[in-house]
Amino acid sequence: MNQAILPVTGADASDGRLARLEAENQNLRERLAFLLEQVERNHDIMCRHQAFDLEIVGAATFPELIGTIFRTLPAISDLDGVTLSLLDEDDDILLVMEKLGVDFSLFPQLLFVHGVQELGFAVGSDQADGAPLPLLGAFDAALHAARFPCSTVALGSVALVPLLRNKRLIGSLNLASSDAARFTPVLGTDFIKHMASIIAICLENVISNEMLKYIGLTDALTGVYNRRYIDRRLLEEIGRARRQSYCIACMYIDIDHFKRVNDTHGHQGGDEVLREVAVRIRQELRRSDALGRFGGEEFVVLLIDADLASAAFVAERIRASIAEKPFELPAGTQTWASVSIGVASLPSQSPDSLLPLDVVAQQLVAHADHALYQAKAGGRNQVVSWSEAQAAQ
Ligand code: GH3
Ligand code: MG
Ligand code: MG
Repeated sequence: MNQAILPVTGADASDGRLARLEAENQNLRERLAFLLEQVERNHDIMCRHQAFDLEIVGAATFPELIGTIFRTLPAISDLDGVTLSLLDEDDDILLVMEKLGVDFSLFPQLLFVHGVQELGFAVGSDQADGAPLPLLGAFDAALHAARFPCSTVALGSVALVPLLRNKRLIGSLNLASSDAARFTPVLGTDFIKHMASIIAICLENVISNEMLKYIGLTDALTGVYNRRYIDRRLLEEIGRARRQSYCIACMYIDIDHFKRVNDTHGHQGGDEVLREVAVRIRQELRRSDALGRFGGEEFVVLLIDADLASAAFVAERIRASIAEKPFELPAGTQTWASVSIGVASLPSQSPDSLLPLDVVAQQLVAHADHALYQAKAGGRNQVVSWSEAQAAQ
């Protein structure tokens, strides 16, 4: 009976083995497919991150760099929040970027802090080299809400990654996910540390480039633009005013008897008056206007979308603000000063005006200079417009 059953049993056994092998094989195939899918996904992530690295390394300006980070990183890393906290102790970065025309309202994800402690890292404690480590864990509104001011989903976990240059903290890259399990304290941090180190290098690089640009365009004593910048801006503005048919105006401002200020209060006293005159002029202007020191005790202002009458009105306010109040000097003394101002304007021109831009620019400044000459001749501490100067001839 056993013998009769054996072949059957043998067949059963090999069928069973076959089924087991097939099942194992199926398992292996599925596992292989899963691994291949993972490899492909990782490869894909790596390629996207490499493209991201290349893009940020190639960013030439500060807005281009942070714009790329905020636009691209959430998408390639599947994040619900990416922000940057930048250490800017004396508001230098903020002021320079504003001066260069960066519109910070476009980047609500960019945060400035004034002290290292505000970044929240335990400096000098965790590692042999003293460099702070990334902080990973559950999202805690009390601690993290301010770092993600524009998040639209409920956040579950965060990674706050130090941005370091030569072991110096320059800020923090803040990453957030709605997934509570995405960033946990046990997660390896090599990848995000690498990403933060590239971002830190790029940030330092564009910030120092922008600073250099700023130094090349501004006057070191007063902080207003220099002549090079105003000359260039004038050409741009005349071109734009011509295309869009609006008027621009120009003021030439010269401090009266400035030599006497220097003679009486020394060069340092004179410098202080120059600085304060620049501040008082600035206070009367709109953000879109450009103020430059043309050298010595002369300033030029470009007023965008302003006709001769409104420019003369602003000039009168500037003249009054300088003449009305004494200037405090470093030695604890005071002095009075006044300015003479010539004003000229460029009426809205037809877009196909034939005169070259540089000729128009030179004429505009020359007209303002000529009106200034009349203001000096007329007794100083006064505003003369080009039309009045012509009539007086
Ligand atoms: P006016 O009313 O005709 O303009 O007389 P002014 O004395 O202002 O004109 P002038 O051109 O004779 O003198 C300008 C003075 O400005 C001479 C120069 O020493 C001084 N000056 C030029 N640059 C600077 C500077 O950077 N700092 C200081 N303190 N003085 C400067
Ligand atoms: Mg002068
Ligand atoms: Mg003068």
